Amino acid sequence: MSLDAINTKIAAACRHAGRDVNDVTLIAVSKVQPDARVAAILDAGQRVFGENKVQEAAGKWPGFRETYGDIDLHLIGPLQTNKARQAMELAQSIHTLDRPKLANTIARLTQEMGQCPDLYIQVNTGEEPQKAGCLPADADAFIASCVALDLPVRGLMCIPPAEEEPSLHFALLAKIAARNGLAGLSMGMSGDFESAIALGATHVRVGSAIFGDRVYE
Ligand SMILES: *Cc1c(COP(=O)(O)O)cnc(C)c1O
Repeated sequence: MSLDAINTKIAAACRHAGRDVNDVTLIAVSKVQPDARVAAILDAGQRVFGENKVQEAAGKWPGFRETYGDIDLHLIGPLQTNKARQAMELAQSIHTLDRPKLANTIARLTQEMGQCPDLYIQVNTGEEPQKAGCLPADADAFIASCVALDLPVRGLMCIPPAEEEPSLHFALLAKIAARNGLAGLSMGMSGDFESAIALGATHVRVGSAIFGDRVYE
C-alpha cells in the first residue's frame, strides 16, 4: 500500500471515530527494510519512523538525517540497559520502558545528558511470558515510580497477542492510561491500526503495510 493510501485510511478511521486526524501520528516502521525502500518513503515526505533495534537504527539514521534533515525516530523494540545511552542519543521517543532497572538507568542518564526522549511504558496486556512489558496488575505502580523519577512518561504502548482480538487489548491499555492521567497511546500495527484509532491510539506503528513484507536474512 502507498503511504498516501495509509494516510487516507488513518484519516477515515479518525473521521469515523470523531477524532482529529492531527491527534494520530503515523510511525513508519522501517526495521529490516532495504535502504532504497526507506528512501522512497522519505522522498514521499514521511519524517516519523520506528526501529526495533538500537544497533540497526544507529547504522541507518545518521546517514538519512544528513540527507533528509530532521527525522522523528521512535525506538519500539526491547531495550537493554547497556544500550540505553545510545538509544537516548538517537531516538526522540522510546516506547519500551518496562522495568525498574531500565527506568533507573534512564533517569541516571537523563541527569548526565541533560535530556531524555519521550517515554512510553510498554504493558504486556496479554500477559504473554515471552513478551516484554510490565504486567497490567503492576502498571499503576510502575507508572507512578517512573513519574517519581521525573521521567517524561507520555503514554503507554502494547503489542496484542497475535491470536487474540486486538481491540480488547487496546481498550485495556486505554483504560490503564486514563486512570493514570496519561494521554499517549502507542497501539495499532498494519493489521489493526484502524481499530486502534477507534479506541484512542495517538501513535500507530505501521511497517509491512507501507513497506511491503520484511525479508529477514
Ligand atoms: C515490527 C513492529 C511493528 C510493525 O508491524 P507491521 O505488522 O509490519 O505493521 C509495530 N510495532 C512493533 C513493536 C514492531 O516490532
